[in-house]
Amino acid sequence: MDFRLTPEEEQFRDAVRGFAERRLRAGALARAHDPEHPWDVAKLMAEQGLLGITIPEQDGGQGGTLMDAVIAIETVAQVCPRSADVVQAGNFGAIRVLAEYGTKDQKRRYLKRLLSGEGVICVGMTEPEAGSAVTDLKTEARPDGDGYRVSGEKVFTTHAQYSDVMLTYVRFGPGVGGIGSVLIERGAEGVKQGKPSRFLNGEEWVTTYLDNVYVPPQNVVLKEGGFKKQIAGFNVERLGNTARSLALGRYCYETAREWALTRRQFGRLLCEFQGLQWKFAEMKIKLDAGQLLLYRAAVNADTGMPSAAETAIAKAFCNQAGFEIASEAMQVMGGMGYTEETLVEWCFRKCRGWMIAGGSLEVLKNRIAESVFERTFSQRPPKTDKG
Ligand SMILES: Cc1cc2nc3c(=O)[nH]c(=O)nc-3n(C[C@H](O)[C@H](O)[C@H](O)COP(=O)(O)OP(=O)(O)OC[C@H]3O[C@@H](n4cnc5c(N)ncnc54)[C@H](O)[C@@H]3O)c2cc1C
Repeated sequence: MDFRLTPEEEQFRDAVRGFAERRLRAGALARAHDPEHPWDVAKLMAEQGLLGITIPEQDGGQGGTLMDAVIAIETVAQVCPRSADVVQAGNFGAIRVLAEYGTKDQKRRYLKRLLSGEGVICVGMTEPEAGSAVTDLKTEARPDGDGYRVSGEKVFTTHAQYSDVMLTYVRFGPGVGGIGSVLIERGAEGVKQGKPSRFLNGEEWVTTYLDNVYVPPQNVVLKEGGFKKQIAGFNVERLGNTARSLALGRYCYETAREWALTRRQFGRLLCEFQGLQWKFAEMKIKLDAGQLLLYRAAVNADTGMPSAAETAIAKAFCNQAGFEIASEAMQVMGGMGYTEETLVEWCFRKCRGWMIAGGSLEVLKNRIAESVFERTFSQRPPKTDKG
């Protein structure tokens, strides 16, 4: 066992760091408060080879490892936390599912724009009545000739209002086995979007209404029976959220550390007060522990998809750690930490969302408990004689 990065990984990290310092440091504060997707950053990242890091070269990607993608997201976040979202969209989300399970034709049609930073793909899983219980989703795909007609509603979808295409979870038939996924373009006939609303992190989201949308057979990604594969792919997305939580926590820790080294009260530097030193010690313990859990899940995944249990443990820990570190960093910085003069308050709001998105803390802990007891626990009410 070796707890250091390999020389190649160190070299990659240093190159990403240099790029981030040169191209992303300026404007980092303003970028975080702009609800628009940072398309300029996405194009810069495409030129730098930071989109499609894990996607094979024959599909237009970089042929790297998941660990490389994690290093990229962490290193970018250290300089410009908002730009880490671009690394997420171009490596960890629905793009990875498309690259893994999409047909040659689907990859040819969509990947080029996504990897050039000109477009994004979003994932529509959540529905008004199917959140944590995602397998309750109602969006239905009914056969129509060789293709399907899709009707339903998707909520809370990150990027929905400007994405090229939505990887849409649909029901081809009853039960978990009836779930699969299709690609639906935003401009397709029958797709409508509602009024934008805002998350606490400042991002906008819209409801997407699918009204009898025709999906040609060539846009089916996974047919019925595909749910397990989709969730295996979704574990990659979860690791991206995990990495961003920890990275934003680290950003806040570094900001507060600098503050404590220069700010004086009662004639002393803040770092000389033991009450604050212990906060930093606790932040540091969480950062180190989270880092090991994150790297374990990423390194072990490099032979395939991440393990569900290791991903759940890493995400549950890092989501909570990122949020708590951001909160403590804010406390250390006093009134200044609570203002928009630094990104600490933004990181705090952003980390809060990841305790809900992509598998809430409670749902992750349910999954971890199953691996503890090596059995499944149905979350549904027990069946009675009356059914
Ligand atoms: C910032 C953000 C971005 C998002 N982006 C996307 C996206 O791109 N695509 C997409 O499809 N969705 C997205 N979502 C939606 C997200 O996946 C859901 O919000 C999440 O799955 C929870 O579902 P819900 O909001 O319906 O809450 P509910 O499922 O109603 O849960 C409410 C509360 O009950 C708890 N709970 C539920 N079931 C259990 C249980 N069995 N045991 C213990 N506790 C339980 C939950 O943990 C939660 O605390 C996003 C959400 C956020 C906040």
